[in-house]
Amino acid sequence: MTELERKQDRAPVPADWTYAPAPEARDIVTIEERYGHYVGGEWLEPTETYTTLSPATEEPLAEVGQATPAEVGAAVAAARDAYENGWSSLPGSERAKYLFRIARVLQERSREFAVLESLNGGKPIKESRDVDVPLAAAHFFYYAGWADKLDYAFPGRLPRPLGVAGQVIPWNFPLLMAAWKLAPALATGNTVVLKPAETTPLTALLLAEVIREADLPPGVVNILTGAGETGANVVTHEAVDKVAFTGSTEVGKVIQRAVAGTGKHVTLELGGKAANIVFEDAALDQAVEGIVNGIYFNQGHVCCAGSRLFVQESVFEPLLERLKDRLGTLRVGDPLDKNTDIGAINSKQQLRKIEELVESGVEEGAEIYQPACDLPDRGYWFRPTLFTGVGQSHRIAREEIFGPVLSVLTFRTPEEALEKANNTPYGLSAGVWTEKGSRILWMTSRLRAGVIWANTYNRFDPSSPFGGYKESGFGREGGLHGLEPYLEFEEDGRAG
Ligand code: ADP
Repeated sequence: MTELERKQDRAPVPADWTYAPAPEARDIVTIEERYGHYVGGEWLEPTETYTTLSPATEEPLAEVGQATPAEVGAAVAAARDAYENGWSSLPGSERAKYLFRIARVLQERSREFAVLESLNGGKPIKESRDVDVPLAAAHFFYYAGWADKLDYAFPGRLPRPLGVAGQVIPWNFPLLMAAWKLAPALATGNTVVLKPAETTPLTALLLAEVIREADLPPGVVNILTGAGETGANVVTHEAVDKVAFTGSTEVGKVIQRAVAGTGKHVTLELGGKAANIVFEDAALDQAVEGIVNGIYFNQGHVCCAGSRLFVQESVFEPLLERLKDRLGTLRVGDPLDKNTDIGAINSKQQLRKIEELVESGVEEGAEIYQPACDLPDRGYWFRPTLFTGVGQSHRIAREEIFGPVLSVLTFRTPEEALEKANNTPYGLSAGVWTEKGSRILWMTSRLRAGVIWANTYNRFDPSSPFGGYKESGFGREGGLHGLEPYLEFEEDGRAG
C-alpha cells in the first residue's frame, strides 16, 4: 500500500454527502397580522383584504388589502398632489439624497428583506440574500447618481418628468422589480403608485416602511396591494401619465389595448423563451453551470431564463451526461435553508401551469428526465426537469413555462442554431457559449434578443439596460436607457 492509499484509508470521509440543515432564523422579521395600503405617507385601513401565504408550507402569513377603485383613486390623487406640490420641482441633488437614503436603509435591513422575500415568495435564501436584495440596493444607488445629472445624460434635450407613474410588478423578483420601477421614476422627478403581485406583497410593504424611514415626502411613493383588477384600475386611471408593467405577455397585451389612444407613456417587460446555445468548442463544465443557473435559478421563474438549450450535435452526449449528473446534486426544499438550490414554486396556480406544460411535453413525445429527490409534504414543489428529443413545434419549445423545466434541442451549424434560436415570438434574452470571440460577435449581432450573455448567464447590473424585442415587450430598464421612459424632452415639443 502506498503512503497516499494509507492516508486515504484513514481519512474521515463521510459515507455520503448529505447536508446538515442550515436554516436562516426567521425571527429577524416581524410580520403584522394585517396590512393596509401605503397612501400619502400613511397606512390606509383597507376595505377589503385577502390572505397571503408561504408557498413552501401553505401557512398564512398575513392579511393584506385588496385595493378598490376608490383606494386606487386616493393613491393616484396623493401621487398627483406630491408631484405638483414639490417633488417635480425639487433639485435633482435633493431627490438623490432620498434615493441614497433608501439604498442605505435597504442595506442595513438586508437580512430582514432576504428572509421575508424567501418566506413570501419561496425562493432560496441564498438567492434573495446574494442577488435580489443587493441588486435592489444597487439599483437605488445607481439612479441616485443620475438624479442631478439629467441635463448631462441628455445634453441639449431639456428633460422633464412625466407626472404620475402607475407601476405593476410580478411575483418572481418582488423587491428587485419594485426597485427597478421606483428608482428611475423618482430620480427623474415622477411620483408613483406601485402595485406588487398578489402572491408576494410583503417585501413591497416593508419597502413602504423604508420609504417612510427615509423621510420621502408623503405621496411621492404610494403602494397598493391587490390582484389583477387593482392593477387594471391603476394603469387605466385617467390621472396616470406613465404606465410601467412587468409580467406576462398576455396581461401586457391587455394593458396595451386598455391604454391605447389615451396618450399615456407605456413600457412593457414581458415573457421570454430564451435560447442558450452551446458550441462544441465551449468549456463544457462551465457551460453546465451556466445552463443550470440559466434555467433553475429562482425555480425558473425568470422571464429571461435560458429555457431552450441548443447543443451542437458533436458534444450533445457528453454535455447531457454532465448536466444530468449536476441535476442530481441540486438540493430542493426549504427556501430558508442556506444550502437550498431550488425552493418552492410561487403559487398553486403556477404549479398547475408547469405540470400542465410538462404533461404536454410527455404527450407530444419528448423524453423527460428528473433526478430522484424527496419533496416536502406540504407546499408547492417541482423537481428540476429536462426534456430531450424536443421538436421545435412542441409546446415546451414554444411556450414560456416559467418553471424549472429545460427543453434540450440540437444543431449542426451556427446558421442552424441562429435560425432555431430566433424562431420564437419572444426576444428578451439569449446565451452563447464558445471559445471564439468572432463567433460570439457573429451570433450576438444576429440574435433577436434584448440581452445576450456570452459564456455566462443571468448576470445583472444596474448600469446595464434590460428589455425585449417582439412579444417580450418594449422599453428598457437599467442604465442610462432606463431614465428615458420616465422623461419627455422639450426638444420634442411635447413637454411644457
Ligand atoms: P403571471 O402570469 O406571471 O402571474 P401576470 O402578468 O398575471 O403574471 O401578473 C403580473 C402583474 O400584473 C401582477 O401584479 C398582477 O396582479 C397584474 N395584473 C394582472 N392582470 C392585470 C391587468 N389586467 N391589468 C393590470 N395589471 C394586471
